[in-house]
Amino acid sequence: MSLTTRSEIPAARRIVVKIGSSSITGDREHQLGHLVSALASAHERGTEVVLVSSGAIATGLPLLNLDGRPDDLATSQAAAAVGQGRLMYRYESALDAFGIVTAQVLLTANDFEERGHRRHAQEAIDRLLDLRVLPIVNENDTVATHEIKFGDNDRLAALVAVLVRADALVLLSDVDALYDRPPERAGAQPIREVAFDDDLAGVEVAPVAVNGVGTGGAVTKLASARLAAEAGIPVLLTSAEQVGLALRGADVGTWFHAAEAAPDELTTTGALQTIEVFTHES
Ligand code: GLU
Repeated sequence: MSLTTRSEIPAARRIVVKIGSSSITGDREHQLGHLVSALASAHERGTEVVLVSSGAIATGLPLLNLDGRPDDLATSQAAAAVGQGRLMYRYESALDAFGIVTAQVLLTANDFEERGHRRHAQEAIDRLLDLRVLPIVNENDTVATHEIKFGDNDRLAALVAVLVRADALVLLSDVDALYDRPPERAGAQPIREVAFDDDLAGVEVAPVAVNGVGTGGAVTKLASARLAAEAGIPVLLTSAEQVGLALRGADVGTWFHAAEAAPDELTTTGALQTIEVFTHES
């Protein structure tokens, strides 16, 4: 089922929701409960929900008495290894209150490149959803062979949406929509809809934000939205605060229309090639 407007989100069969580190850690830690209750409502309505959540490194840092994001890979990986368990514990506790079982799914970019790995990941997630489990995906940071980049999970979310043939991808950030220029700039206007063939030429996007815990900002969100849209999956970009409204189909955020072709193995491969291009360019 291909959604044509955000108001159809409540009727989606399957959605992927992505949340970034800064929305659920530090002084926004309380937002995790709000996110979980919105996901639980969608789940209770019968929608199959997959969450892609960052936050392993940001959760691990204070437990290791580190205050900034480390600049070496091994320390980032160590922080992720410490934080991932704690992050899942927070999700498990919150989902328990709704009687929802969750599952940790850790994937690397390589898993998407190898057909066998990709198929197994897809089958396992399909099975979890059949079993009414709410899977939570993160990058398997501890074995990532590249530097863990800001915004990696924006790409991961688009790949997961393609992998599980989601009806929509909901990207949550700290900003409520895409703006025609950086939102803090005077006169910035939200863009409500983006047609599939719109190259957003007039839109001025701030460079990737480095805020200490890891968020990709508008650049990686746009790349992710384009990747999903090319594979036939529409995308709603909005703020973590508005997740409840977004999943109820309210008129919030920016809606990226998808290409008309349904996602299939061919477009998945296309999406994977696109992701490679982003990886090499960045
Ligand atoms: N996988 C990283 C983490 O959980 C985050 C990557 C990102 O910021 O997108 O900390």
